[in-house]
Amino acid sequence: MNVNMVGYILLGSPGAGKGTIGQFLQETYGIDHFSSGDLLRSEVSEQTLIGKEIAATIDRGEQVPDEMITQLVLNRIEQLVAENKSFILDGFPQTLPQAERLNHFAKFEIKYIYVKVAPETALERMIHRITCSVCTAIFSKMSQAEEACAKCNGTLVVRKSDQPETASRRLVQFQQTTKHVIKEIKKDFNPIIIDGNQAIEAIRENLLRSLNTASFKEKLHDSSL
Ligand SMILES: [Zn+2]
Repeated sequence: MNVNMVGYILLGSPGAGKGTIGQFLQETYGIDHFSSGDLLRSEVSEQTLIGKEIAATIDRGEQVPDEMITQLVLNRIEQLVAENKSFILDGFPQTLPQAERLNHFAKFEIKYIYVKVAPETALERMIHRITCSVCTAIFSKMSQAEEACAKCNGTLVVRKSDQPETASRRLVQFQQTTKHVIKEIKKDFNPIIIDGNQAIEAIRENLLRSLNTASFKEKLHDSSL
């Protein structure tokens, strides 16, 4: 077990604000932030063997197999373990087998962060979201009137997955699958739970406070041994 390496795992429905929180943690801790979706997209755009398979699957209107996603994520984590780098992961695990694989695989500390949000808030956020096509930074249509990304000047786009129809389908899917995974994780792993219905500034503040309290409690626990 590598005690200096931490994997922050962000859980929550689409639109809960995981991406924004991930960006914030990345800036705060200066560590890698990636999602299973990023990994899929980069395989597709680099046209690797697995990327071509993924593109064909999506073109057929099918879901990318669980096992393929698991493999991509674990490969990436393996690289990070080799470099002893902490990271933030978003969008994984989505199923119980994935959660078990991650757990068996982890040679580092895992901190689960569950961002809990009302479905109406999530939907509202998703359909107002614009994403930089270059650096994947996320903005709200309300706050970002510009056409270009404030960070890298890249073009801002509405991702297919954020269009109203797809967004509500993803929310239903979350209720049917990932929500059960989160229930199990809640039982076994004592996640930090954050109220995602609040404004982003309040979410950030609560998150930092919870992370600090968690590490303080661990220190207390350690010193009592
Ligand atoms: Zn950008």
